[in-house]
Amino acid sequence: MIKDTEILVIGAGPAGLAAASAAAFLGASVLICERDDAPGGQLVKQTHKFFGSEKQYAGDRGIYIGRRLTGAVRENPQIELMTNATVLGIYDDGIVTVLHDNRHLKIRPQKTIVATGAAEKFLAFPGNDLPGIYGAGAVQTLMNVAGVRPAERVLMVGAGNIGLIVTYQLLQAGVQVAGVIEAAPKIGGYLVHASKIRRAGVPILTRHTVCEAFGTDQLEGVRICRLDDQGQKIPGSEETVACDTLCLAVGLTPLTELCWQAGCEMAWIRELSGHVPIVDENLETSVPGLYAAGDVSGIEEASSAMVEGRLAGLAAAGSLGYRPEQAKEEILAARAELAELRSGPTGGKIMAGLARMREAGKTKGGVFVC
Ligand SMILES: Cc1cc2nc3c(=O)[nH]c(=O)nc-3n(C[C@H](O)[C@H](O)[C@H](O)COP(=O)(O)OP(=O)(O)OC[C@H]3O[C@@H](n4cnc5c(N)ncnc54)[C@H](O)[C@@H]3O)c2cc1C
Repeated sequence: MIKDTEILVIGAGPAGLAAASAAAFLGASVLICERDDAPGGQLVKQTHKFFGSEKQYAGDRGIYIGRRLTGAVRENPQIELMTNATVLGIYDDGIVTVLHDNRHLKIRPQKTIVATGAAEKFLAFPGNDLPGIYGAGAVQTLMNVAGVRPAERVLMVGAGNIGLIVTYQLLQAGVQVAGVIEAAPKIGGYLVHASKIRRAGVPILTRHTVCEAFGTDQLEGVRICRLDDQGQKIPGSEETVACDTLCLAVGLTPLTELCWQAGCEMAWIRELSGHVPIVDENLETSVPGLYAAGDVSGIEEASSAMVEGRLAGLAAAGSLGYRPEQAKEEILAARAELAELRSGPTGGKIMAGLARMREAGKTKGGVFVC
C-alpha cells in the first residue's frame, strides 16, 4: 500500500519541525518521518542556553526550544509525526521508502523537504578504533539523554563551540577533563565558553593534535604532540595523557545521502562543511519539488535551521497553491530573517559558502534563480 501526503518532511530536528509547522500554517497537510524514537534532533541533548538571535529563542535552553517546536507540531491536526521512521530512499517515480517500526512503507509525497541534519567527523590515527573513543555527540547523548556518566577522565579534541560546551557538561557531570587540544592556532568557539573551562582548571592547548591512542582492551591513554606553523607535527614534542575516554569534537558534515540518491546537483563547499545540495533562494534543489533545509544544506546553527525550515515549508506549501499571497509575504520575511542572522561576525563564513554554492549552481546548469 502507498501512503499519500502533500508534504513529506524528513527529519524532526529544528529545521524539520519548523518546516512542518510553516507548511501546515498555510493549509498543507504534512507527514514528518523521524528515524529516532523522539523528535527534536540535536536539541534533545542541548541543556545549555542557546546563543543567537532572540527571535529564535536565544537565551533559552536547547531542550526547551525542541519541546516548544515539538509541541506546536503535535497540536497541529494538519501534521502527522512518525517516529522510528527512517527514510531509506527517494526514487525517480516519486516514491519514498521508509523503515517504520521494522515495517517497510512506501510514501508518495507531492513535495519533500530533506532536513536530515549532520554527522560527526572523525579523525584518522593509530588506535582510533579502541573502545572509549567517541564523537562529542555520543558523549552528550549518554550524559544528557540517557543520564549515564560516560567516563572517569576525558581528553577532548576540538575547541570549537561543541568541544567547549561538551567539556563543560562533562565537568558538570563530575568527569575529570585532562585537557582540550585544538589543531588550529586559535580557539574556534566563543570565549565565554573557553573562559568557564579554564576557570575550572582545564588547559586548552592550541596547535596540538592526537598522534596515537593506546590500550589493551580499551583506551588507556593518548599520545599528543605540538604542531608547527604549517600544521606539521613537531618531532620530540610528544606527551602522554592518561585517560579512559577520548572525545572528538572535530566538526560536523551535512548528512546528504538522500540528496545524492535523489539525484540532486551537489557541490563541495568548504565553508558549509562538505558536500551540499545546490539550492535556490527558496531552498529547492535541482530536483523539482525537493527542498533541503538546516544543517543538511550547510552546517550552521539551530537558529538558522529553524528559519530555513520555515522558508522551505512555506515555499513547498505555496507551490501547491496554498494562500499564495500570504506565502509570498512570509517567504520574503523568512529570507530577510536569514539575511539578518547571517549579517553578524559569524555569518561571514556562511555567506561566502552560499556565494560559492550559487556559483557552482550556475556552472552546473544555472539552478540558482536569484
Ligand atoms: C554541542 C552542540 C551545541 C550547539 N549549540 C548551539 C547553540 O547554542 N545555538 C544554536 O543555534 N545552535 C547550536 N548547535 C547547533 C544546532 O544544534 C544544529 O545546527 C541544529 O540542530 C541543526 O538542525 P537540523 O534540524 O538541521 O538538524 P538536526 O538537529 O541534526 O536534526 C536532524 C534530524 O533528522 C533525523 N534524520 C536524519 N536522517 C534521517 C532519515 N534518513 N530518516 C528520518 N530521519 C532522519 C535525525 O535523527 C534528526 O532528528 C549546537 C550543536 C551541538 C552539537
